[in-house]
Amino acid sequence: MTDGFAAPRYTGVRTFARRPHERPSGGVDVAIVGVPFDTGTSFRPGARFGPEAIRSASVLLRPYHPALDVDVFTGRAVVDWGDLAVTPGNAERTVAQIAEGLGEVLRTGATPIVLGGDHTIALGELRAHAAKAGKPVAVVLLDAHADTWDAYYGERYFHGTVFRRAVEEGIVWPERSLLAGMRGPLYGPEDLDDARDLGFEVLTCDELRALTPEEYGERVRARVGDAPVFLGFDIDVVDPAFAPATGTPEVAGLLPEEALAYLRSLAGMAFCGFDVVEVAPPYDGPGQQTALLAANVAYEMLALHAVAGRPEEPL
Ligand code: MN
Ligand code: MN
Repeated sequence: MTDGFAAPRYTGVRTFARRPHERPSGGVDVAIVGVPFDTGTSFRPGARFGPEAIRSASVLLRPYHPALDVDVFTGRAVVDWGDLAVTPGNAERTVAQIAEGLGEVLRTGATPIVLGGDHTIALGELRAHAAKAGKPVAVVLLDAHADTWDAYYGERYFHGTVFRRAVEEGIVWPERSLLAGMRGPLYGPEDLDDARDLGFEVLTCDELRALTPEEYGERVRARVGDAPVFLGFDIDVVDPAFAPATGTPEVAGLLPEEALAYLRSLAGMAFCGFDVVEVAPPYDGPGQQTALLAANVAYEMLALHAVAGRPEEPL
C-alpha cells in the first residue's frame, strides 16, 4: 500500500484506492475485481471502460470512514485483483468466464467487490456465489431497472435479463430479495409485474424515496433474513444529472447522498459479495463525476464489509 503522505495520491499505477495489485492464494479480506465487459448493453455502450475509470477516480479515497466510524484499510488485507477474462461480443461465454474467475477469488476466502461492466456480468457473479454458498443467494439491488425481461432482440443473455436468468438457474432466492429504485417509462405494467411474479419484492424509486434510510434498512433485513446475501448497485439508480455516464439513463433518480444513506443503512449485514455496474465513462462529465461516485459506492461497500456483524446502532 502506498502512503498518501509519502507520495502524492495521483502518482503511481492506478489500482483501486492505491491497493496492491495481487492475487494471493489466501489471507485476503476484500478483493476489488474489474470486469470490463459491455456486449450486453442495449443502448449506449462503453461500460467496458468502467473498471479503468473507477480505479482512476478512486485514488483520493482515504482510509477512515467517518459515518460508520471504521478504518477500511488499516489492519485489513484489501487487494486489487485486476480484471477477469472476458470475451467481447459473447455474453454467454463471458458469464461462464466470470463464474470461473470469481470462483477463484472466492476460494481464497476474499469477499469480492466487482467493478463493471454492464449488468450482464452479475449472472456470472451470482453463479459463483451460489456455488460457494451451496444454495441460492438473496439479492439486494439498487437499480432504475428490474432487469427481469425474458429476451431483447431474441437475446437471452444481456443486461436486462440477468435476474430472470438467475431465478431460472436457481442461483437467486427471489423471496428473500429486494429490488429498489425502479423508474422511467416501461413497455407496460408487466415489466415490473413480471419481477414480482418471479417472487421479487420491488420498490419503485418513488416508494424507495418515501422510506427513510432506517426504514429501508429494516425492510431489507426483514426480507433477507438469514439468507446469504449479495448487494448490487447499478449506477443508473442515481439521477443522470449526477451520474450521466451510464448505458440506460432514467431521469428523476436518487441524489448521491440518498444513495449513500441507503447503503449505510445496511451496516451490520454480512454480504457475500458486491458490485457496482453500468458505469460507461465515454458519457461522463469533464470532472468524471460518475466514476468518482462509483468509486465512493465501492468504498461504502468496503466499509459495510469492515463493519459486518457489528450490532446495529443509529446512524
Ligand atoms: Mn441494471
Ligand atoms: Mn439499470
